[in-house]
Amino acid sequence: RYPTGLPSVDDFELRGVALPPLASGQVQVRNVWLSVDPYMRGRMNDVPSYVAPFRLDEPLDGAAVGQVVESRHDGFRPGDFVLHRFGWRDEVVADGNAFTALSSLYPPQAWLNTLGPIGATAYFGLLSVGGAKPGETVFVSAAAGAVGSVVVQIAKLKGMRVIGSAGGASKCDFVRSLGADAVIDYKAPGTMIEKLRQAAPDGIDVYFDNVGGDHLDAALGCAKQGARVAICGMIQMYNSSEVVPLANLFRVITARIRVQGFIVSDFRSRWDEFQSDMEGWVAGGKVAGHETIMEGLNVVPSAFLALFSGKNTGKLLVKL
Ligand code: NDP
Repeated sequence: RYPTGLPSVDDFELRGVALPPLASGQVQVRNVWLSVDPYMRGRMNDVPSYVAPFRLDEPLDGAAVGQVVESRHDGFRPGDFVLHRFGWRDEVVADGNAFTALSSLYPPQAWLNTLGPIGATAYFGLLSVGGAKPGETVFVSAAAGAVGSVVVQIAKLKGMRVIGSAGGASKCDFVRSLGADAVIDYKAPGTMIEKLRQAAPDGIDVYFDNVGGDHLDAALGCAKQGARVAICGMIQMYNSSEVVPLANLFRVITARIRVQGFIVSDFRSRWDEFQSDMEGWVAGGKVAGHETIMEGLNVVPSAFLALFSGKNTGKLLVKL
């Protein structure tokens, strides 16, 4: 069923179905890594959006990495690792064209993290949408998460001053270990704007928004003249109908702030540029893919829900 507010594991059901026999041109893939992502919450509302809602009684699609079990397609052999979008299931039979063969140079799950849409979201959001430049001050929220932790690392290697926010002392320690110059524990006493003013007394040039709400309002309140706000996500709102007022919205005018939302797929035509930079950084040890791993197909709904209680550090993956 479509959930209201925070979903529960009872909104999901694990079902067994027989796979069809393998036809010519098809491959059979056994999944090894499944991705759970906050944007999937939006697909659990039956409303039109930039991506279609999930359909009731059908498997949830999304990014996954698997290994070919059997192939009747010339491009794949048993044992090959492949990326696909058939999502939350242990096995799939489909046309070979629906799968992308993965280079064996990196751990296969890296294609669901730094080398995939997570890395690209951080890269294009920070450098293109945010237009962040060396020497500038960047604030990123959910900085201990998948996208946020990559934003921190890219901003540092590009010579920016970085402030990251996260929930709790150990997550803040993690963000600091990534190279952040200052961290904000949004769960500690005090308001976001007070904490951000303290971390950035001269203001911020770029805000990479993963959270929305009071984090966004604080960023607008501390933005320098000509600052840029890259709106990537607003996880604070995904399970809530509460409207958080933006008391500092008027500063968009007075401080000439550019606020722009984006979806990573907007940058499909520039993927090679990202791939080449990111592979270099990963190979050179400048960007690391941090992971929280849960195991088993039956834990997928609770893994997904763990994103909203912040149980993950880095990319949350389910290993089968
Ligand atoms: P994360 O790995 O960052 O996981 C979500 C994190 O958000 C949690 O670990 C938690 O960290 C934090 N969080 C959860 N609820 C709240 C809350 N109410 N207030 C503040 N923080 C909260 O997920 P991703 O890196 O995959 O995604 C990060 C954001 O980027 C999301 O908003 C997502 O929708 C968006 N996104 C957008 C894309 C685009 O194309 N525009 C593409 C990919 C992601 P903590 O413990 O610190 O609270």
